[in-house]
Amino acid sequence: MTEANTQPEVNIGLVGHVDHGKTTLVQALSGSWTDQHSEEMKRGISIRLGYADATFRRCPGVDAPECYTVDEECEDGSTSEPVRTVSFVDAPGHETLMATMLSGASIMDGAVLVVSATEDVPQAQTEEHLMALDLIGIENVVIAQNKVDLVDRDRAVANYEQIQEFVDGTVAEDAPIVPVSAQQEVNMDLLIDAIETEIPTPDRDPGESARMYAARSFDINRPGATADTLKGGVVGGSLVSGELSVGDGLEIRPGREVDEEGQTEWRPLETTVRSLQAGSQDVESARPGGLLGVGTGLDPSLTKGDALAGQVAGEPGTLPPTRNEFEMQVDLLDRVIGSEEGDGDDGAVEEITTGEPLMLTVGTATTVGAVTSARDGECEVSLKRPVCAEEGAQIAINRRVGARWRLIGVGTLS
Ligand code: GDP
Ligand code: MG
Repeated sequence: MTEANTQPEVNIGLVGHVDHGKTTLVQALSGSWTDQHSEEMKRGISIRLGYADATFRRCPGVDAPECYTVDEECEDGSTSEPVRTVSFVDAPGHETLMATMLSGASIMDGAVLVVSATEDVPQAQTEEHLMALDLIGIENVVIAQNKVDLVDRDRAVANYEQIQEFVDGTVAEDAPIVPVSAQQEVNMDLLIDAIETEIPTPDRDPGESARMYAARSFDINRPGATADTLKGGVVGGSLVSGELSVGDGLEIRPGREVDEEGQTEWRPLETTVRSLQAGSQDVESARPGGLLGVGTGLDPSLTKGDALAGQVAGEPGTLPPTRNEFEMQVDLLDRVIGSEEGDGDDGAVEEITTGEPLMLTVGTATTVGAVTSARDGECEVSLKRPVCAEEGAQIAINRRVGARWRLIGVGTLS
């Protein structure tokens, strides 16, 4: 990429059942342009939440949707012009950890739901992921009906109708369904056109104070680095508001746990922004969209091994409080998503009871809490690990069902 402005400006989640083609689709759309975050960062993130940036381009003199491409060279030999750089967040499909998917959802501006044309609709995670989008309120959705190269026309049409029926009454009700083959790169222009129309870049106010959700954190030093070559800790995540620049002060909450006279408490960390990586570049200043790597002046032992994942960073003095317990309004699902016959129950979601453990996803933080009081539509939880969150924050509520944590509803912090 040679253009100056390639910082992604919108985050798009890739969701759907395992093997339906999410990663293949991201590869087809992000083309040869791989990001240049440090190896450590790249490797780590593709395991948990894979970010990949893609620049959508337009061939001059051609109408939409045929004009859209990710290639620099157009069919007629002319050079395409960049339209928008987006960042795809590729949620893991196998061994669906809803929390990981939902921590992605807190930073998603829209989503592409990938549904394979070769299987009946819905498969377990197709349903689970759509419900999560519905709950979290992600309304800008495009459906990619993938693997159409593997089915004949009749099956493709029947599958298309199944998808329509399945999304009826959900956030994806009016979402366009675009038949594609990610592997053969068929109809990528139509898909880009749908994304351009359905998932606009949100209006953001650059005057707001900077707020970032940390999804990862690292120590990027090689073993044996000496004091004068040692680099400060790196925090990776997404800016959800404001702007962050090199030299800015940075507060991170809850921060770190300190032990004092047998009492443990969490203290916010304060540092400065020493470097910023956005898209493929080192930048002086960054806005929301895509994955941001923030080099800080923190002792790298504090950022090692995702120690700060789930925390919130921003302008000192502007962050929400750190909470060891909170109260939330609860909205339960009727049925545990993905529950199958033979699970030993009918999948109905029982009321939350005092004393039960819940796994809560707040922003990019996942924490286990014990219910200390439960009333109709409300409950109080005491957390094992505190979270930094403000009133009105949305919380995904998971309950242990059999061997797995299952999404049972959403809460609103009150
Ligand atoms: P994910 O689990 O949703 O990320 O799915 P992957 O992208 O890993 O794809 C799963 C398998 O399906 C891989 O073997 C892909 O090569 C294959 N695949 C993905 N998209 C297509 C497609 O459009 N057509 C065909 N024939 N195979 C596909
Ligand atoms: Mg995948």
